[in-house]
Amino acid sequence: MTRLIFYGGAGEVGGNKIYLEDQSTRIFLDFGKSFSQRSHFFDDPFLVPRELEDLLELGLIDPLDEVYKIRALHGNTRPVDGILLSHVHADHADHISLIHPVIPVYLGQVAKLILDSFATTRYRQMDNDTSELRFRTFRTGDRFKIGSIGVEPIHVDHSIPGAYGFILHTTAGPIVYTGDFRLHGPKRQMSLEFVARAKEVQPVAMICEGTNAFSPPNLNEEEIQRKLEELIAVSPGLVIVSFLFKDIDRYRSIFQAAKTQRRKLVISLKHAHFLRALRRDSRLDLPPLDDPDLRVLVRRRGCFYDWEVELRDAWEKTGRTVTAEGIAERQPEFLLTLSSFELPELVRIKPMPGSIFVMSMTEPTNEEAELDYDRLTHWLTHFGLPLYSLHASGHILPHDLRWVVQEVQPKELFLIHSEAPALLARYLSDVASVIRIPQRGEEAVLVGA
Ligand SMILES: [Zn+2]
Ligand SMILES: [Zn+2]
Repeated sequence: MTRLIFYGGAGEVGGNKIYLEDQSTRIFLDFGKSFSQRSHFFDDPFLVPRELEDLLELGLIDPLDEVYKIRALHGNTRPVDGILLSHVHADHADHISLIHPVIPVYLGQVAKLILDSFATTRYRQMDNDTSELRFRTFRTGDRFKIGSIGVEPIHVDHSIPGAYGFILHTTAGPIVYTGDFRLHGPKRQMSLEFVARAKEVQPVAMICEGTNAFSPPNLNEEEIQRKLEELIAVSPGLVIVSFLFKDIDRYRSIFQAAKTQRRKLVISLKHAHFLRALRRDSRLDLPPLDDPDLRVLVRRRGCFYDWEVELRDAWEKTGRTVTAEGIAERQPEFLLTLSSFELPELVRIKPMPGSIFVMSMTEPTNEEAELDYDRLTHWLTHFGLPLYSLHASGHILPHDLRWVVQEVQPKELFLIHSEAPALLARYLSDVASVIRIPQRGEEAVLVGA
């Protein structure tokens, strides 16, 4: 028998945790953290769970002995055979830190480089520590088996590198899992290759994301670069851009805009650490880290982690560090990237009149738990910074989703990772044969072709 159970990602954006059982093989497709549910009880990074028991008590995770560290392997419980990660956004990957370490975690090679960087630079919590886990990496073109399930990972375009969709060969027939993907991004060809292969296998089921339903941000990266250049050109003061640095496409656009407008681009130490980790994969085509106009923002005072000292010293040797005070003195020369956690730097910079703040986040806040909008507006009001928005979505647009469903023609379509699955189900009802909107904990048995 082949069956699916949706423990997360059902009726919500993110938190994907999809159990797939085929004969005696049991795996999970993604193992993410659900920010929408978590925010009912917690407020990262201060009010956070301390033990796995906290998450169980509050119903934020299900009592699954075969996967969670707390009870796995007691009695006759056999752990699941593996966890397949589509990519390492928190809403797909963060809860791997809660699994029993005997369970192998499969992920793309680039995804592993990203996790390694985070393991060093991230503020460590009970539910983001991955140090004990056993990882196995793959690339597009690889095929491997987990028990009776044949796994075919295929790259897709998304707002983080190292993102994959999967074709899963089960006894009921092929199952397609999209992870998060889009067709309007700079690497759309990768997603098209995935769709072509999904069509070819004639799947019995497709588990598909449906993030975008209401006013999706519909710029593309070239437009973002051009509009950012225009904003810089008319801004006599400091230009600040807030974005998620895991999105290397956005970083490329911001980098290019700084170049054409002859501004020095300032990034954080954490961002520099991430870029250095990704440098090991030359195919990512990252802007050069040794660019003479790139600067790393360093603090003069305070506590420093070992990795910060090592990296800061290395950058200082190249003469390419800058302090908030240094930016304050020559504001029109800089394009400053700033995350919401770094807003206090504004106190030392004191943005001059004519400075602006550009919000350029690609993800819904549910995916990476970024910032509280009210709080941001207080900071911007205090410093007299008008807010501009420049977005491009990391997720498939509704009309592209229609095309994919028409192409692939799955016997059953499962809509997940969406706050509007009913809307999409109706929108797609003339192109899909059977559409299912799973509820959390609901089981679906797949009948073979
Ligand atoms: Zn997601
Ligand atoms: Zn994602």
